[in-house]
Amino acid sequence: MKVAFVDLKAQYHSIQQEIDQAIAAVVADCAFIGGKYAASFEEAFAAFVGREHCVGVANGTDALFTAMKSLGLGHGDAVITAANTFIATAEAITQTGAEVVFVDNDPLYYNLDLDQVEAAITPRTRAIVPVHLYGQPCDMDRLMAIAHKHDLLVIEDAAQAHGARWRDRTAGTFGDCACYSFYPGKNLGAYGDAGCVVTDSDELAAFIRSHCNHGRHDTLVHGIEGINSRLDGLQAAVLAVKLRHLEAWTEARITAAARYSDGLAGVCVTPAVHPDVRHVFHLYVIRVANRDQVRQHLQAAGVQTGVHYLKALPYLAAYERLGHGASDFPVAHSFQDEILSLPMHGDLTEAQIDHVIASVREIAHLPEN
Ligand SMILES: *Cc1c(COP(=O)(O)O)cnc(C)c1O
Repeated sequence: MKVAFVDLKAQYHSIQQEIDQAIAAVVADCAFIGGKYAASFEEAFAAFVGREHCVGVANGTDALFTAMKSLGLGHGDAVITAANTFIATAEAITQTGAEVVFVDNDPLYYNLDLDQVEAAITPRTRAIVPVHLYGQPCDMDRLMAIAHKHDLLVIEDAAQAHGARWRDRTAGTFGDCACYSFYPGKNLGAYGDAGCVVTDSDELAAFIRSHCNHGRHDTLVHGIEGINSRLDGLQAAVLAVKLRHLEAWTEARITAAARYSDGLAGVCVTPAVHPDVRHVFHLYVIRVANRDQVRQHLQAAGVQTGVHYLKALPYLAAYERLGHGASDFPVAHSFQDEILSLPMHGDLTEAQIDHVIASVREIAHLPEN
């Protein structure tokens, strides 16, 4: 039996007619950059998240970069984020000219360890970028309290958390703004690159829209030098179709995750879900002592897996300049050799999930910690 890590073909076949029609409409209108399809998706996504504005951009990394740039972050500033996240989070911070400051992940929920954030704050700290990693929101009540106490900006990296909730609020509604990626493999994925920033601030939304369109105002006057990072019409039309199915796919992910966790209890560390969250399982990540062996065994059984991430950011050559060692981020450092992402998407069948469970059970050993 084959089990794909993400099955974009199965998803396409389930909505083929709607997608084909949507793409044909954009082509017929030649509404390729911005335009009515982008505007209507932006409106729908802002309503989905529960924010005043959604500004579509070319990808999630640009969403983070333009958000931070538009909030005035740059040289001389320090920005705190998690040691274990996708490199895009840190890249965007560096791109503004600010310095990235890593904080370890908490050992239970894998998000930024809020017990350690305050110790990392210095007079240069201007912002925190919490990442709702794997689809599980951070404790945003506590994080926002820390941010308010120290007068820090908060930019949520919600690239893995479309539709996730902390208590009764959608992740992405807490910070000054939140950034989403619509990379094809994300919970809401385009047919190419796309991303967005959501915010309640009229001023910030207008600045981001201008910054991402060469600093242009309505009048074709360029007040500032910006960048070219715009949402294209084809991606917007695909996203608008897929947004209508997102809740059903998210529920399917949550159901699949529950089946995995039942079947895998006792043989590996299954994801801990905070009682106050809706975890949308962008990734279903287990921890095992013999990760590489389990991975090979699963591959031989037809099961595709991933590792998110092979090395925590401070241990990548890209961040060698910061001079970090294993003891600086003990959780991220020890977990990087134990984590394994199992197949997760909205079209997994029970038979596929059970095949993955059986294959893991044949070989997995519990980590000691
Ligand atoms: C995917 C992702 C991004 C970047 O998104 P792109 O669209 O690939 O640029 C940023 N942060 C996190 C946590 C991500 O998973």
